[in-house]
Amino acid sequence: MIRESRLRPETLDGFTVQLASNIETLEDIQTAKKFGTSGVGLFRTEYMYMGNKELPTEEAQIKTFTSLINEMNGEPVIVRTLDIGGDKYCENLSLRKEANPFLGLRAIRLCLHECQDVFRTQLRALLRAGAAGNLKIMLPMISCVEEVIQVKEIIEQLKKELLKEKLPFNRDIEVGIMIETPAAALQAEHFAKLVDFFSIGTNDLIQYTIAIDRDNEKVAYLYEPTNPAILYLIKKVVDAAKKNRVWVSVCGQMAGSPQYIPLLLGLGVHELSMVPMSLGAVRRIIRKLKMHEAEVAAEKALNSSNAREALNVSLELLKKISPEVTDLAFRGL
Ligand code: PEP
Ligand code: MG
Repeated sequence: MIRESRLRPETLDGFTVQLASNIETLEDIQTAKKFGTSGVGLFRTEYMYMGNKELPTEEAQIKTFTSLINEMNGEPVIVRTLDIGGDKYCENLSLRKEANPFLGLRAIRLCLHECQDVFRTQLRALLRAGAAGNLKIMLPMISCVEEVIQVKEIIEQLKKELLKEKLPFNRDIEVGIMIETPAAALQAEHFAKLVDFFSIGTNDLIQYTIAIDRDNEKVAYLYEPTNPAILYLIKKVVDAAKKNRVWVSVCGQMAGSPQYIPLLLGLGVHELSMVPMSLGAVRRIIRKLKMHEAEVAAEKALNSSNAREALNVSLELLKKISPEVTDLAFRGL
């Protein structure tokens, strides 16, 4: 019998879905491999910076990224550039206190305006490690095209530097963005002309669209991934990506939650990245679904007037396709 983690994440009518992992340390890769990951969809680099006395050097970062590439054996490794600010603090970057940190100098904004030297070191490490294999750069918290244009200019300058220094690097490294703000989702058509891929970060997209602090328990009742406004934005991003031949994935927690899988597939998302522990449950659901049924459900959910109604559409389909799988999936087994 084939081990479950080796089974293809394929729907009953033959659509294959890519299932990748979100990881935070090099060690996490072993768990991801055990659960049958097909690559790293999100490597959160901020943990290389937080809780350490020194900022990571270019060489240290190259070592980590190269190990990831080697462990993944040709499967893609998507590295997200520094996403500090918001709820994540880094002593070495001497950040100033802000009244609304989630709306302030977070992630790409911080990298471009307050610590460009640190950002450049990280980009150099990514370009150089990229020479060893399938590594891609992903930019967090993008809200306007100028940010992407500026990063791409910096990357071009760094390539020239590396050429002069005669150091090997990947000249054609792919650059993508996270779609985490409604502004990025609504302008996906324009971003698609500038980047190689999108990864929808639903954790932040929900926070910024519904206007709720994702860590504030008092408003947790509003934190509903099936709010039709969220489904609408996902659809908008997927449509823009397909039209412009840019690939798109979802890497927020929504991608690893069985109850949302029919809707994501039906909306046209065929790449999902999640904590490795969720890979089994998500794979099981996919193997019981038909793409056509998922599409009908997604259309119905999109036209729902509220989050509960949209969620019920998905749950109804799950119950129909396999009550026992649904039960197991919800218990995370
Ligand atoms: C997201 O916002 O969905 C995401 C994956 O990024 P993070 O949770 O690290 O903010
Ligand atoms: Mg995020």
